[in-house]
Amino acid sequence: MIKKFLNKVFKKREQAAVAISEADLNLSQSAKKIAFKKHNINQDLISSAALKTCEGLQNAGFDAYIVGGAVRDLLLDFKPKDFDVATNAEPEEVNRIFRRSRIIGRRFRLVHVLWGRETIEVSTFRGHHDNNQNKDDGSTNDTGRILRDNIFGSLEDDAVRRDFTANALYYNPKTQEVLDFHNGVADVKARLLRMIGEPITRYKEDPVRMLRAVRLSAKLGLKIDKATEKPIAELADLLQDVPPSRLFDEMLKLFLSGHAIESINILRAQHLHHGLLPLLDVVLEQPLGEKFVMLGLKNTDDRILEGKSSNPSFLFAALLWHEVLKAWQVQQKYAPMIPALYNAMDEVVQLQAKKLAIHNRFVSTMKEIWAMQPRFEQRAGKRPFALITHPRYRAAYDFMLLRCESGEIATEIGEWWTTFAHANSEQRTAMLLPDTTPKKRRKRKPKKTAVKEAGSA
Ligand code: ATP
Ligand code: MG
Repeated sequence: MIKKFLNKVFKKREQAAVAISEADLNLSQSAKKIAFKKHNINQDLISSAALKTCEGLQNAGFDAYIVGGAVRDLLLDFKPKDFDVATNAEPEEVNRIFRRSRIIGRRFRLVHVLWGRETIEVSTFRGHHDNNQNKDDGSTNDTGRILRDNIFGSLEDDAVRRDFTANALYYNPKTQEVLDFHNGVADVKARLLRMIGEPITRYKEDPVRMLRAVRLSAKLGLKIDKATEKPIAELADLLQDVPPSRLFDEMLKLFLSGHAIESINILRAQHLHHGLLPLLDVVLEQPLGEKFVMLGLKNTDDRILEGKSSNPSFLFAALLWHEVLKAWQVQQKYAPMIPALYNAMDEVVQLQAKKLAIHNRFVSTMKEIWAMQPRFEQRAGKRPFALITHPRYRAAYDFMLLRCESGEIATEIGEWWTTFAHANSEQRTAMLLPDTTPKKRRKRKPKKTAVKEAGSA
C-alpha cells in the first residue's frame, strides 16, 4: 500500500519536473523574474501557513506560489489579510497532500488548506478562456459572463486570466523571486490599477471586476488606469446580471474594507451605486438620508481601522434605515404605529432581496435594531430598564446615536440614554420621565349575578 503510494508520488514528481522545465521555458520568454533585492518584500509579513502550504506542495514535486492580492499588498508593505496559493497540482492532488483540507466551489474549484485558525486558499492554474470558442459549451452566457471556470492551464495562462496586473504576481518563497508577466510590479510601484487585456471584454466576462476596481483603488489608494476606468460607466448595467449572493459578498468586502466612505465616493463617481443596493441611490439623494448613510459608513470605517469588529447587520441596517422610515410613514395609514413599522421593515427587505441577497442571519439582526428604535423614545416606567438588558441593546443604542448625530431625532435623547446606562439604579429611577402613556382600561366583567338578573328579566 505504502509502496504504491510512494510510486505514485515519485511519478508525479517526474511529471512535475517536466512541467517545471516547460514552464521555465515559457517564463524566460514572457515573465520577468524579480529578485529579492529588487522587490524587498518583508518576510515577516508572510503567514507561516502560506509558507507551509507552498512547502508541502513543492516537496510533493509541484509548483507553488503565493499569488494575487497578498503579493500586491506585500509589495506595498501592507500586511495581507489573506493568502492565496496557486499551483499546478489539481484539487484532488492538493487535497491528498494536506490532511486538513477540503475541496470547495463550483464556479471555481479550489482547496481550502487549514492551519489552526488560518485557511489558505489553493487554486490550480486556470486555463485561458476563449469567448468565441466556448460560446456554446455553457461556460459563458450571452453577454460573455463566465459561468464556469474549471479549465486548468499553465502558469502563464493563469496570469492572463487574473484581473489586474497588480494581482498577477507570483511569489516563490523558496527562491524569494517574484514572477511578473504583465508589468505588475512597475504598476504597483506607480500605484496604478490596470486591467490585464482588453477592459471591455474582461468586464463582460465578469462584471464584478468593476466593483473590484473600485474596492481595490479605495483600499490601497491606487489610481485606476484610464483605459481600465473608461468603460465602467457604460457597462455598469451588467451588474444587474450578477447573481445577488455574489453581489452581496462583494458589497460586504467593499463596505468592510475600512475604506467604505472612499469606496462609495468612487462608486458614485463611476455611476456604479445605482442598482447595487437598489435603494441606496434614492437614499443618497435625500440630505437627511445621505448624512445618515455617510455617518454609518464612517462609524464602520473607524471601528475597522481601530482593529475592532464591525457587524454587517448594523451597516446594512444603517444603509436602509431611511427607506424604512419612508415606508413606515406610508404603512401608518393602514396599521397602528408598531405593526406599521414591522410591515415597513418587511417591505424594504423584500424589495432589497431581489437585487442583493442579504443573508438571513444579518436580516434578523437588522430588523431587531430597527424594531428597537421606537423604544428609545419611551423613557418612563419600567420600559428603559427592560430595553437596556436587551441582547441587542448596544447595537441599537449605537444606531440611535447615529440618528441623533444626523439630526433625525433630538440629541437630548441620546444623551439621556448615555447617562442612564452609566447611572446606578437609584439615579436611573430619578431620571425617568413622567409616565404620560394612557393607562389601558380594563374592561370590567359583568357580574355573574347581574347577568343572571338580566337574563331572568
Ligand atoms: P483582497 O485584498 O481584498 O483579498 P484580492 O485581490 O486578494 O483582494 P481575492 O478575492 O482574495 O482578492 O482574489 C485573489 C486573487 O484572485 C486576485 O488577486 C486576482 O488575481 C484573482 N481574482 C479574484 N477575483 C477575480 C476576478 N473577478 N477576475 C479575475 N481574477 C480574479
Ligand atoms: Mg485576497
